[in-house]
Amino acid sequence: MQRVRVLVLNAALGPLDYRVPAGMHVEPGSIVVVPLGPRQLIGVAWEADRLPSDAEVGDNRLRNILAVADVPPLGAPLRRLVEWTADYYLAPPASVVRMALASTSALEGARTITEYRPTGEVPPRLTPQRAQALERITDRQGLIRELATIADVSDAVLRGLVKAGAIEPVEVDIDTAFPVPDPGFGPPVLSAQQREAADVLVAGVDAHAFQPTLLDGVTGSGKTEVYFEAIAAAIRAGRQSVVLLPEIALTEPFLKRFHDRFGCEPVPWHSGLRSSQRRRAWRQIACGDAMVTVGARSALFLPYKNLGLIVVDEAHETSFKQEEGVHYHARDVAVMRGLFEQCPVILASATPAIETRQQVELGRYAELKLPGRYGAAELPTIEPIDLIAEPPERGRWLAPKLVAALEETLAKGEQSLLFLNRRGYAPLTLCRHCGHRFQCPNCTAWMVEHRLTRRLACHHCGHIEPIPRACPECKEEDSLVACGPGVERIADEVAALFPDAKTAVVTSDTIWSPAKAAEFVARMEAGDIDIVVGTQLVTKGYHFPNLTLVGVVDADLGLEGGDLRAAERTFQQIRQVSGRAGRGEKPGHVFIQTHSPKARVMQALITGDADAFYEAETEARRDAGAPPFGRYAAIVVSSEDQAAAHEVARLIGRAAPEVEGMSVYGPAPAPLAMLRGRHRFRLLVHARRALDVQDVIRGWLGALEWPQKVRVIVDVDPYSF
Ligand code: ADP
Ligand code: ZN
Repeated sequence: MQRVRVLVLNAALGPLDYRVPAGMHVEPGSIVVVPLGPRQLIGVAWEADRLPSDAEVGDNRLRNILAVADVPPLGAPLRRLVEWTADYYLAPPASVVRMALASTSALEGARTITEYRPTGEVPPRLTPQRAQALERITDRQGLIRELATIADVSDAVLRGLVKAGAIEPVEVDIDTAFPVPDPGFGPPVLSAQQREAADVLVAGVDAHAFQPTLLDGVTGSGKTEVYFEAIAAAIRAGRQSVVLLPEIALTEPFLKRFHDRFGCEPVPWHSGLRSSQRRRAWRQIACGDAMVTVGARSALFLPYKNLGLIVVDEAHETSFKQEEGVHYHARDVAVMRGLFEQCPVILASATPAIETRQQVELGRYAELKLPGRYGAAELPTIEPIDLIAEPPERGRWLAPKLVAALEETLAKGEQSLLFLNRRGYAPLTLCRHCGHRFQCPNCTAWMVEHRLTRRLACHHCGHIEPIPRACPECKEEDSLVACGPGVERIADEVAALFPDAKTAVVTSDTIWSPAKAAEFVARMEAGDIDIVVGTQLVTKGYHFPNLTLVGVVDADLGLEGGDLRAAERTFQQIRQVSGRAGRGEKPGHVFIQTHSPKARVMQALITGDADAFYEAETEARRDAGAPPFGRYAAIVVSSEDQAAAHEVARLIGRAAPEVEGMSVYGPAPAPLAMLRGRHRFRLLVHARRALDVQDVIRGWLGALEWPQKVRVIVDVDPYSF
């Protein structure tokens, strides 16, 4: 009789044992359907010795596996990755394996996807909207929703075009192969500096061995072109590649660039896909037929059959840190996947994280540098504007010098970008009469005024309310005032200053899908926009040759609060956004509005001396025993019942073990003391690098019990402090 251990996709259940009925073939990694009581669950067969079970069942009580899915089993490297991730991040293995199965959407559902494409027919009645739609989707194929977004018309317009015969449905079988990228399609002529770096990466791919490499190149140096050569080498060798991007909005421009280089698009993977598309991508990835996948961090756990290269682009980005469910850092997990797959991992960045630079120092990661911009492009000039010495006019946020620069740029017919990392119109709304402030009912956070949608919104839980005419507290009418600027307010100021300029606000409110990002890129390229006002969404990836001016509206914003990485993050963000200026032949200029132009981070930005800044920051971290020299783990206790959460947090605090080299702080209210209606307390564990904190925490929490309404999560290597 064959007995197998199965990891069922239910975090509350441990691994369970089942019997393989005669004639059924099950191996480690097989995806199976098993009975549990009256229910049927999906699970993955696992090596019993690697996954201890605490519910051993006698042979005679074993139940049969019901079915095996007709997809390839998860390979050993992916199974090792699941084990490592669960272990390191103290997460249930079931929650990790769920990411590999993409929540089973890969397994269940229809075998075909109905997509649509233009027929070439011109409909008898050609309204402006129909014409716009047909023009924008000429050679596209996709779901109605996707095409509608690309064309910026309603679904109804497209459905009308289907009726009129201008667009036709095409049934795509989920096993239809994706086109294979052609490494010889559009190779660039690399500069000597790029060639040298590319050769090293290509040799690494050909060697097919584990090797993390930091590709450290200034903005506009051609990092993408260089790692494309490594992808080309992997395709030639018949191996798959995956490219992780920090933001799904960057997918669309990436697809286009990839198309120019390889003659077809790679396979996208992100939360915006429909389940049928996911199913197709998942299966092709598992069969080894999808050669290049590009996606958000979740693409890291997909079942690549034959992985030859992992690229993490903009590797310093904090969005690679997942803050929900399994709390993992995709950059670090990418390196582990490379280790298990025995393939190279490229971390590309113009502003690498201190942690990554440290790995290079220690000789664990190789480093390739691209110190100059490609072609004739020069790095922009950077100039501070001292907000105390030369402040904006009353009630305005842009200093005279920046306004003058905007005017000059407009006159030259060039584009400008104003950066402020704050969505909405104003971060705080209060009543001028009684002082009432609008707070989110679910979170410890102010409601942010959004004028475009005429609402107050909480940026933590998404709660929205209409903006009232009267103060809810004192009932005074028209007494509400907006305090401080958000991007919408800056856009208003720009419109008042330059009524003829075409402005665009770019935030996650306006660019919420890859197609919206594509539309923004097209408008920028067509010169349809003079001035962009945007959040961190515009700081990375984009390449607009006619964009020559960047203004940082409030450089001090990110330095507020005691975050360990505040200075580093400010440096990275402003350097990235500066990197958008002057990427073509025209020189770029950057103005940084700040109250403290003498601060170390501002000086580093102005002089461009990144090394000096990093050295000083690294020393400060070393002194504090902060990462990468020491480590943190946060234990967050939350519940809708405040007293219960507090009680459990105190219980955990009292049970903290005495361990040499480890200190425990708290419990204290977490930085967001209430989030989505849950009260939160936090204990912060600080330890020496060499200490196995996970092991300590496992033993510590494992001995305790708490009521079900209280949730305890551990965030290993936390990002938000
Ligand atoms: P980075 O990712 O380092 O910011 P990119 O890869 O986006 O830089 O390159 C910046 C711009 O220069 C892009 O438009 C890119 O196509 C162009 N470029 C870089 N290297 C080359 C090359 N060898 N040949 C042609 N164009 C190049
Ligand atoms: Zn909220």
